[in-house]
Amino acid sequence: MRKSYVQLRSELNYDDLIVELRSDFTQIPDHRAANVVHKLPDILMSAYAIFSLKYPSLLCFEQQSAVERTNLQSLFGIEKICSDAQMRRVLDEVSPDQLQELFPKRFDLLTRVGIPADYRFLKKYLLFSIDGVHYFESHKINCKRCLEKQHRNGQSSYHHSMLGVALVHPQRREVFPVGCEAIQKQDGVSKNDCELNASKRLQDRLFEAYKDQPAVIVEDALYANEPHIEQILGNSWDFIINVKPSSHEILFKHFEARKERGQVATLVLKEGKQEHHFYWRNNVPLNGKGNVRVNFLYYEQHNGKGKPKCFSWVTSLRLRKSNVYDMMQGGRARWKIENEGFNTLKNQGYHFEHNYGHGYNQLSNVMALMMLLAFLIDQIIQASNRLFNDIWTAAKAKNRVWERIRAIFIIRPVNSFNELFVILADLYSVQLE
Ligand SMILES: [Zn+2]
Repeated sequence: MRKSYVQLRSELNYDDLIVELRSDFTQIPDHRAANVVHKLPDILMSAYAIFSLKYPSLLCFEQQSAVERTNLQSLFGIEKICSDAQMRRVLDEVSPDQLQELFPKRFDLLTRVGIPADYRFLKKYLLFSIDGVHYFESHKINCKRCLEKQHRNGQSSYHHSMLGVALVHPQRREVFPVGCEAIQKQDGVSKNDCELNASKRLQDRLFEAYKDQPAVIVEDALYANEPHIEQILGNSWDFIINVKPSSHEILFKHFEARKERGQVATLVLKEGKQEHHFYWRNNVPLNGKGNVRVNFLYYEQHNGKGKPKCFSWVTSLRLRKSNVYDMMQGGRARWKIENEGFNTLKNQGYHFEHNYGHGYNQLSNVMALMMLLAFLIDQIIQASNRLFNDIWTAAKAKNRVWERIRAIFIIRPVNSFNELFVILADLYSVQLE
């Protein structure tokens, strides 16, 4: 008999996900000679282990106890552990494109256990929320990929940023990264990269990987421009993009004029003490002229005191009385990538802004990708594994769960994550099923 999604999800565990990941790592080409002592999958798995175990620095990982070395072998399948210097040297030359391919593979796994089915927006679409994040800054350390900023005092500073994409849903806590694009200097280009260039590459990459998915791209006002919208529509995807009076003056003036003439649809919904006021008009020009026409939604949230909160979006989905509430929630779900994604990476044990190694070429990007991959696998476990959630509830903070996992990993030999979780459950008197 076929297993239900609930059953399949309950069977997901770190150990199987790590075996699958290691198998994917064996497919990544090694640029070095064939007779190297430390094989690339071991080095990649070591980097993954750093982020999976939330080591605060590469040095902490380097100073392993004998037990840690045993556990790295048994839990992560690492045969030979390399030095941190070697890890940096080898990963600096790994192609980020090869690591990018691991995200759609994890999405296939999510599909196998029915998670995208739970994330349907308007019963049909998947919301892909995209946002930029800054994760490295230095006045000294730099590589050939760094974005460079000249300051008035003559000094330069160096940065790395990325655009992240995650599957989100207004009512769901977990966000699942589905890809990313580094905002960094490209091969053969000496000038700085920018968010809009990276976004163009990202759309191509996303569409290549997820063209079968009915995606709705959710983004902030920077992306409400004609070339970007045309690229999304060219892929037969949809969008909900935030717009602001300051960035889209003509659009807002056009809408206000229509509103004064009574040519705008309205709806007020009451929810407890809250009132939701919607104003919309379909098929308006994005910039007053040009070919791109959009549907415009203006929303006010009244809480009974003070000024209402106002938001507005343009979308390719036709606005109706029956969907404006959902559209507002879809537009606001954009923040989930920042709140549940990047902020978790920065503040919930992942040390996103810590420099785990910069290198000369791709290391900074490769380390960021490995961290995002570790976060994705953690989110899969969080969305599916009952024991993990019970331990999290008992420990009260997720940071504490990671700390305890690492503490056990350092001092006690274990054969699997499953065994480690059972020890942790015992510590917190969590009942096993
Ligand atoms: Zn750099």
